[in-house]
Amino acid sequence: MKFIDEFRDGDLARGLAVAIGHAARDDRSYSFMEFCGGHTHAIARYGVSDLLPRSVRLIHGPGCPVCVLPIGRIDMAIRLVLDAGVTLCSYGDPMRVPASGGLSLIKAKARLGRDGGSPASGGQIRMIYSPADALAVAQRHPDRQVVFFAIGFETTTPPTAVLIKQAQALGLRNFSVLCCHVLTPSAIASILESPEVRRWGTLPLDGFIGPAHVSTIIGTRPYEFFAEEYRKPVVIAGFEPLDVMQAILMLIKQVNTGRAVVENEFSRAVTRDGNRKAQQLVSEVFELRRSFAWRGLGELPYSALRMRREFAAFDAERRFATDYQAVDDHPACECGAVLRGVKRPQDCRIFGNVCTPENPVGSCMVSSEGACAAHYSFGRFTDVVAVTERAAAAAIDPAVVS
Ligand code: SF4
Repeated sequence: MKFIDEFRDGDLARGLAVAIGHAARDDRSYSFMEFCGGHTHAIARYGVSDLLPRSVRLIHGPGCPVCVLPIGRIDMAIRLVLDAGVTLCSYGDPMRVPASGGLSLIKAKARLGRDGGSPASGGQIRMIYSPADALAVAQRHPDRQVVFFAIGFETTTPPTAVLIKQAQALGLRNFSVLCCHVLTPSAIASILESPEVRRWGTLPLDGFIGPAHVSTIIGTRPYEFFAEEYRKPVVIAGFEPLDVMQAILMLIKQVNTGRAVVENEFSRAVTRDGNRKAQQLVSEVFELRRSFAWRGLGELPYSALRMRREFAAFDAERRFATDYQAVDDHPACECGAVLRGVKRPQDCRIFGNVCTPENPVGSCMVSSEGACAAHYSFGRFTDVVAVTERAAAAAIDPAVVS
């Protein structure tokens, strides 16, 4: 397949693995965070970690949009359906994220009845594939209040902005958006300012594999601050396995030479300034929120978007006067630590036994971009082998080690 096979070529991957092996020095280790869930998925799916020398460690970051949604935000969506009786339109993954009271959107939908409608409140939940589907539902059902559950980083924000402008142009009075769009640079800053990085040094970070799709919108410029201020190299990388390996090689070379700059491996799609038209559209419709709660990272100032006053009529939070209420994660869930990079999925004691993609307890097991789901789907057997090997080395029962 043109433009994809080239980036999954086994011989080229072996060549890059050799180059990485030669570049990595014997007298030090390297820890790089891949910010994006798309990279986490690619690394797990294609076994990129297995091709790296032991001295190179990849740390999963908080860049999975479904994973960083806190329980309270899912609760808001459910309340809109059950209490306000709206028709909520959501992508598939957020529907499976566990919420309060043993609910999720998909479980709430099941409770509502076979057609997804609630006899009591009249609320409905519909799964959609694109924002345009939500608008079409609103146009088809002028008698119903339709809410689009908008989530995601900078990649998915421009389509939501287009949607809101279309709704305004059409004069739709029955359409609004529950806006949960968040910003990548704020999350990177939060990681770099975390005590694990700044104070305790328990999270060694030598650089970042920068987001692919997000960077097509915002460009490479916003990362320059992190390279300059924190002395952390950033290499923007595409989502194919060879992109990731090339980025790792570029990061190792920067570290070896003491450089900390932003480099762009994904130059076939990303420029320094990004997509100016999309940025303009976003700034026309949205403004910064003072504060937004992220799963794992907590309340981060100016880390998310809400609609500007001119578009307030399409803001579901204002229209239905619903507020965010913080809810604690499940006590056994380590999603917060996984999202901050301080724990690995297999460090969670319910990983793969209680918490599985079929029965997710935390958000990181829901989306294929979530670190836990990626490990479970593509890496759990290596984890099992590692446990067995450690047990054999210690001559004890594997069950004790696990
Ligand atoms: S295994 Fe499940 S509960 Fe544990 S950190 Fe991962 S998603 Fe959260």
